Amino acid sequence: MHMKTDGHKNVILMGPPGSGKGTQAKNLAEHLGVYYFGTGDLMRQEAKNGTEYGKIFQQVWDHGQGELVPDEITEKFVEEKFSQIDFGQGVVFDGYPRTLHQAIQLERKFTEAGEDFIVLDIEVADKSLVDRMATRKVCHECGKIFFHADLQHITDCSKCGGALFKRQEDEPAVVQKRLDVYEHQTKPLIDFFTKQGKLVTIDGEPPIEEVEREILEKIKINE
Ligand SMILES: [Zn+2]
Repeated sequence: MHMKTDGHKNVILMGPPGSGKGTQAKNLAEHLGVYYFGTGDLMRQEAKNGTEYGKIFQQVWDHGQGELVPDEITEKFVEEKFSQIDFGQGVVFDGYPRTLHQAIQLERKFTEAGEDFIVLDIEVADKSLVDRMATRKVCHECGKIFFHADLQHITDCSKCGGALFKRQEDEPAVVQKRLDVYEHQTKPLIDFFTKQGKLVTIDGEPPIEEVEREILEKIKINE
């Protein structure tokens, strides 16, 4: 494994729904000039292209009542997408891994490529997340998220002009349930990466720009 002095270029971003993880992951990938591997975006792209995978994903989204695409399908899909990535060029992961098994698989990929990586866990208190999601609206067309849309009297997406809607899964009771599920699901991953000395905690409470600064600070290697 070669020593790098310029910091990490392989980053796994973790964080509960509403933590701003997706935004941070995209910004970080752009900043580092590396590949952004977001399972959500990749899946939406498949659906748009009407591929076999895309049809399955669409089916779950339309009729799954808020359920996630089953892990084994995600895993197979991601495995195929991996073949398109050059692990030596740097990658930011968003939405993957979700299970301990996936974490072990991904760690093996990095090891095989002789690459190091870092895991950033964006922490936000449950109460803040519930509050955030209660004011959140999403663009029907492009998926862009708007906080406090009602307060600002925003009804259309600033990016594509699509209509904004409030997702049923953003209702406080549902959010709390999703947070419980998230914590239960990711606990083993957090433990795994902590034991490996890969986990770094990021305070996700401050505004986006501040969180971004902390992330850039933490991915530097000072050795
Ligand atoms: Zn939009």
